[in-house]
Amino acid sequence: MISGLLSRSSVAPARAFQASTLPRVVSALPRVQARGLATGAEPYDVLVIGGGPGGYVAAIKAAQLGLKTACIEKRGTLGGTCLNVGCIPSKAMLNNSHLYHQAQHDFKSRGIEIKDMSLNLDTMLKAKSGAVGALTKGIEGLFKKNKVDYIKGTGSFASPTSVKVALNDGGETQVEAKNIIIATGSEVTPFPGIEIDEKQIVSSTGALDLQKVPEKMIVIGAGVIGLEMGSVWSRLGANVQVVEFLEGIGGAGIDGEIAKTFKKVLEKQGLKFKLGTKVVDAEKKDGKVYLNVEDVKSGKKEQLDADVVLVSIGRRPVTSGLNLEAVGIEKDERGRIIVDDAYNTTCKGVKCIGDATFGPMLAHKAEEEGIAAVEVIASGHGHVNYQAIPAVVYTHPEVAWVGKTEEDLKKEGVEYKVGKFPFLANSRAKTNADSEGTVKFVVEKETDRVLGVHIVGPNAGEMIASAVLAIEYQASAEDIGRTCHAHPTLSEAFKEAAMASYDKAIHF
Ligand SMILES: Cc1cc2nc3c(=O)[nH]c(=O)nc-3n(C[C@H](O)[C@H](O)[C@H](O)COP(=O)(O)OP(=O)(O)OC[C@H]3O[C@@H](n4cnc5c(N)ncnc54)[C@H](O)[C@@H]3O)c2cc1C
Repeated sequence: MISGLLSRSSVAPARAFQASTLPRVVSALPRVQARGLATGAEPYDVLVIGGGPGGYVAAIKAAQLGLKTACIEKRGTLGGTCLNVGCIPSKAMLNNSHLYHQAQHDFKSRGIEIKDMSLNLDTMLKAKSGAVGALTKGIEGLFKKNKVDYIKGTGSFASPTSVKVALNDGGETQVEAKNIIIATGSEVTPFPGIEIDEKQIVSSTGALDLQKVPEKMIVIGAGVIGLEMGSVWSRLGANVQVVEFLEGIGGAGIDGEIAKTFKKVLEKQGLKFKLGTKVVDAEKKDGKVYLNVEDVKSGKKEQLDADVVLVSIGRRPVTSGLNLEAVGIEKDERGRIIVDDAYNTTCKGVKCIGDATFGPMLAHKAEEEGIAAVEVIASGHGHVNYQAIPAVVYTHPEVAWVGKTEEDLKKEGVEYKVGKFPFLANSRAKTNADSEGTVKFVVEKETDRVLGVHIVGPNAGEMIASAVLAIEYQASAEDIGRTCHAHPTLSEAFKEAAMASYDKAIHF
């Protein structure tokens, strides 16, 4: 995050909301089209553009703080990428494909025999849509409960205090506000020269909705989304190959050692990796997709083929159509809206949070920023600890981390110690016959302060919450080692890894 671009003192204190010199909500539309808008005398205190995890959380928090709030969303449903085409549908597919895979390959050894088991993909997809529908409707309910006005349409700046909305039902209106928060999120980064048709060449959105299990699938990009979606279709029976430009998997921020273990685990499950490989182009022919690839080091060319190709090389901020130029909002070279440490853009009174600006593209990061940005508006102070933002890959086993990696600390010249504990030595993991993976602590050498925790293993995504707390409260490894953890739980592996970093683990 660019720090101090605008000074904190430029943030209007809460009492400024009483002084209303700004114009009223303008609606050039008949009432029926402007339904849901507050057409009263006052402009909104807070207007949020985008109803994803950043935007809807900001809107609810603002309303809870007594600010008159509206949220503009163009999708037709709330929850953004996360609830509609991201976190939630992908986790529904990950969970159910894991159960299917277990039932097929693992149940028998546990004494559970199922005759005539088969996949009903249609029902699995419906279960996913059901989860999405219930949760997006739930956000609408929260808007009503908290009295957030929900404006269904596409917003663009008319002035620093006014947003023009092309309503989804037709027509246009203009909404005035004292504070505007941009939370327009991100979209799939296209691969130059490869056209996504969401059938044979798909983005993550298409990969969540394939109507048939492909025989062969190629995933371009071994980041979090590529590995999660690759796992889903591999478990359902596809032969999945992942092509990645870099030499490692797991994307930015993953610990090198954990990434290597993770790759071995996925390979055992049947995923194939082609690392250090550049995709040149793709061609559709006779119902197949042919990918021309090139070894990054040797330049050796090869052609791969698949029934479905998933393009998963990252996401980019959504800012087009917002008319940012008209109000002087600047972006960096990667298209991210530039903000200071109080989320102020280069236009006074306009803030930006979530995927549309700096930082990891994660739903919980967007939510934290939504709350902090609103607190800055209401009280002048709001804060997110960017050192304590966890990341999770929801494969099986899961991978989760928070804080610094060994690689980071080497670069920074910080002296550190490492403590590890394998799930193989954890009684619960052994009992569950689910013992692949490790917990790894990275602690400051002199003080034992926890600097990073990296886990590959069952329930890593839940376990990482303890590590986030440890980092937030600047705990030492000994603080964790001397905290009683219930037996038999997977979290004992967490405690023992902490112990191993300042002393010795008991069970390994
Ligand atoms: C397949 C997949 C899986 C993911 N899994 C996870 C996960 O497990 N955990 C995690 O933390 N993150 C995950 N993510 C990332 C997560 O979805 C995003 O980081 C998060 O949604 C960002 O929130 P946001 O509020 O910034 O933006 P978004 O969720 O993108 O929401 C922005 C909203 O703004 C709306 N909008 C845009 N422009 C306008 C406009 N001009 N007017 C009105 N509305 C507008 C859009 O329609 C959109 O609904 C995943 C993403 C994908 C694609």
